[in-house]
Amino acid sequence: MQQYFVDETIKPGSQVKLNDEVLHHIKHVLRKTDGYIFRLADIDHQVYLAQLNGDYALIVDQIGNDSELPLQITAIIALIKNDNFDLVLQKLTEIGVSRIVPLVTRRTMVKIKDETKKLVRWQKIVTEASEQCHRCIIPQVEKPITVNDVKAYLSKYNYLAYEKSDALYLPYESVSDSLTYIIGPEGGFDRDEVQIIIDQGFECISLGKRILRAETAAIFVAANLAGACER
Ligand code: SAH
Repeated sequence: MQQYFVDETIKPGSQVKLNDEVLHHIKHVLRKTDGYIFRLADIDHQVYLAQLNGDYALIVDQIGNDSELPLQITAIIALIKNDNFDLVLQKLTEIGVSRIVPLVTRRTMVKIKDETKKLVRWQKIVTEASEQCHRCIIPQVEKPITVNDVKAYLSKYNYLAYEKSDALYLPYESVSDSLTYIIGPEGGFDRDEVQIIIDQGFECISLGKRILRAETAAIFVAANLAGACER
């Protein structure tokens, strides 16, 4: 069933005015008419069953809010080639990550010309992915940061995926509450960047014996966490 998000608190039994983008999608892309039933998620992360009535959604029932992970995951991901970064945004959203922070490192090849435009595009990707997979929240995509700024995103558990250490695996089964993980760019981190990150409170972890591409590594960590904490 199709889902949309609205920027307000929904009251059961009320009517909600739908914005132009949602109306365009329902009426012109899906070609639906009055009576069409869909899901509507509000700013309090509650999801409702709604029925189209002109430009309004008539709220017919409350579905709840049980599609979020019990772990708040912040993923700090080095900027990689456009298509691959977009893919990471979409997949991490589907898996259930709460926040995604793009990271600029010394070996980052991608240059962003218009940051505001890029953020709008990234937020659109995570919004559409959240609608498609029935999330109750849309993950926040932050402005790109550098390795000096990662301390601003510390959680209860904090890990840096680093392929050159003899580090242990992330203890997927035993983490709780909140976790931040960092993935480097295609060319990997410089050793001094690794030290800068460690000094801010991150622990190096291994993702196994093979070297994963950055996008695979980003998805691998989130998928393992989601698999372990929802079991
Ligand atoms: N150093 C390599 C590969 C970088 S892989 C090179 O020079 O090409 C991109 C990122 O994925 C790394 O920075 C790291 O964060 C993560 N990564 C990939 N494989 C990993 C592994 N086996 N263990 C830990 N991190 C890994």
